[in-house]
Formats: sequence, structure tokens, C-alpha cells
Amino acid sequence: MSSEAARLLGPGLYLHIPFCSAICPYCDFAVRKGGARRQSDAFVDALVKEIRGLRSGELLPEAPDLAASVTELVDAPFDTVYFGGGTPSFLTDDQLERIFDTLFRVFQLRSDGRFFFEANPEDITPDQLRSWRRLGVSTLSLGVQSFDDRELRFLGRRHSAKEAEIAVRDALEADFETVSIDLIYGLPNQDPGSWQAALESILELGADHLSLYELEVHAKTDFGKRQAKGETLQLPLDAQADLFLRTHDVLSSAGWDAYEVSNFARTPEHRSRHNQKYWHHIPYLGLGPSAHSFIDGWRFWNEPFEPRWRRWVSDGTSPAAGWEKLPASALALEQLMLGLRTREGVRLDRLQAHLDIDFLKRNQRLLESWSSSELVHLKEDRLVPTVSGMAVADRLAAELDIGNESA
Ligand code: SF4
Repeated sequence: MSSEAARLLGPGLYLHIPFCSAICPYCDFAVRKGGARRQSDAFVDALVKEIRGLRSGELLPEAPDLAASVTELVDAPFDTVYFGGGTPSFLTDDQLERIFDTLFRVFQLRSDGRFFFEANPEDITPDQLRSWRRLGVSTLSLGVQSFDDRELRFLGRRHSAKEAEIAVRDALEADFETVSIDLIYGLPNQDPGSWQAALESILELGADHLSLYELEVHAKTDFGKRQAKGETLQLPLDAQADLFLRTHDVLSSAGWDAYEVSNFARTPEHRSRHNQKYWHHIPYLGLGPSAHSFIDGWRFWNEPFEPRWRRWVSDGTSPAAGWEKLPASALALEQLMLGLRTREGVRLDRLQAHLDIDFLKRNQRLLESWSSSELVHLKEDRLVPTVSGMAVADRLAAELDIGNESA
């Protein structure tokens, strides 16, 4: 087993912090405009209660088989903890200390584990960075989104390009193991030159990791309403594909590791250990409003509306709002869709374990044609995509035959 695979064995924890100082016009996450301190204190009280309630059994999901799986998972040694949102940097040091303290008391956290923390550039100060480092944060993920002031205004962000650059420089000086940057692409009229300049800024600044997000327009957001009135808010698909390929060109030429379709690491050591759990079906437990969990083929999710999630937890009711046990065919399809987005590809033995057909035999012709068009390659026990294959991973997965019961 490779050292990387060994590191991926432990389950992960995800904590959803639902507050933001303002709501971005494209955002469809479960977030609230943060207000008074007492509001976030009440949230932290409920989060601490949810964590303890999983250990005591009081807040387990209602389905008995799922509850048994969660009880077992709670005892496992976790090796990643991810604070996402929303904006985790919205919380005060005291609130974060309470959450960290509860996590350490309730869960076994492996000594070689990693803590991930999302922050917005406007919340970065050298003192704040020192506090997060002292708490144990190892990867700081900065929601930069763009290094162009015009684009930042369009996205409704609260920082300028200059402030983003200063935040990245300060974070890099604060001795985190990994400083990661989030960028959004696919804005209307986005200039390939400005996109290339953003990528070059990341290389020049010396950041360790990049996560890319394609701008999506969701109906209930401000952007969705503007689009419904006829405004153009996205780049045409062919221009988006150009930006995507340019990103892979620029970063691969600089020696970066394009380890997933939208994730790039300066070295393999800077890959996101946490996100790889999502792509490889390693169990994870989600806490907080809207958080999703995956374990033993079960997926379950918490109530997304923070006041309702908080009320359920305070009343001693499980915050799980829904759950499903995925059939083998759905697990196989997910393995294909997720694996074909990664540089490691799909482990064929794991895929075959979910199928009652001979996968390679059934798809031989298709795979040969994709191989000659440089979309995928068979390498030992894996089906590995090229960069062009990664870009159309969902289409490839949908075309593969996984038997009569395909999900
Ligand atoms: S900062 Fe992030 S989570 Fe918050 S509103 Fe903007 S996009 Fe959504």
C-alpha cells in the first residue's frame, strides 16, 4: 500500500459554519448573514451539543442500521477535520477554542491528523493567523476568488485584489503546512489574459494549493434572478473549456500536480487529504446545518436551515433531515464519476466488487476507442483519465455500461 493510501484510511470530520458577513450574489450554500455575537454563541452551543450527542447516542439518526454505523464511526481514529462554510473565520478565537476542545474530548484525532480551515481575505491579520496556527490549523484555505478588482466587485466580494495578495503573503509567512487559494472562473467576458495573470500570481506568491470553482448560476440566488431577466452571467461553454485547459497548461508547466479536475498542488504533499476522502468513498461525518455524511454506503444530511437545525439539536432531536442507502450500482457509478475526475483514476478491483458483470469485457470497445482518442488509459489495476478525459469525466462515466441495474 502506498504511503498516500495509508494516510487516506482514517475517516474525516466536516464542520459547517453557516455565517458570512454578507451573502455573495451567486452563493447557494446554507449560509446566513452573521449578526450579533449571541447568535453565533447559540450556534456554537448547538454544535458542541451535536458533537456530544453523537457520542452519547442522544442525537443519532433515527434509522437503526445507520445509527449503528454512526456509533461505530464515532469511535474510529479520525485523521482530518475540515472547517468549511459559510465562513469559519467569522467565529471568534473563544468560540473556536470551545469547538476544538470538544472535538479533542469526544473524538480520537490521530496525532498525524490535519486541520483544514476556510477563511476570507478580509478576516486575515497576522494576530488572527497566529491564533489559528496555535489552535492546530494546518491547511488554510483562502477564498480569494479573483485577483482582479472588477471581477471581485462583480462577484460581490468584500476584499480588493491588493487585500487578497496581502492576505496570501501574510498566510504564507504564518507557517501553515499548506496555504490553499480558491479561485472562480467562467465569469461573463472573462479575459483569458486576466485569468492567466491570476494563475501566475499564485505561482509568484508561492502558494501551495489551488481549488478552482466554475461560476454556476442557481435559480434562487441574486444571479439566478438576474439571469432569469435576461442578463448574461456566465462565459460560454467553449470559452470556459479554454480557461480550464489553460489552467492545466500553466500549472503543469510549472511542475504542479493536477491531482483532480479542479484541484492542483505544488507538490503531492500539499494535496488535500480531506477532499480525497470524498473522491475515494472514505467515511466522513458532517456536523452543523446542511452537513453531509457518508458511511458504509449510507449518505445522510443535516437540516440546512440553521435556526431549525439548532432547535432540533437543543430539543434533543437528531438534526439528520434525510438519509439513503446507496445500492451497489449507484456506488459503482459514483466511483466512476469521482475517480475519472482524479489523476489516480478508478481502482478497477473496487469498482468490480460492486458489479455483477465483467466491467472490462463489457466496455472493451468503448475503452479502446477512448484510449486511441487520448481520453483514458488502462494502467495496471486502474482506469486513468488524461487531462482531456478529466474535463469530460461525467460524460464518460455516464457512457460506461455497469450492468442492467445502472443507477
Ligand atoms: S463568502 Fe462563500 S459561503 Fe459566504 S456567501 Fe460568499 S460564497 Fe457563500
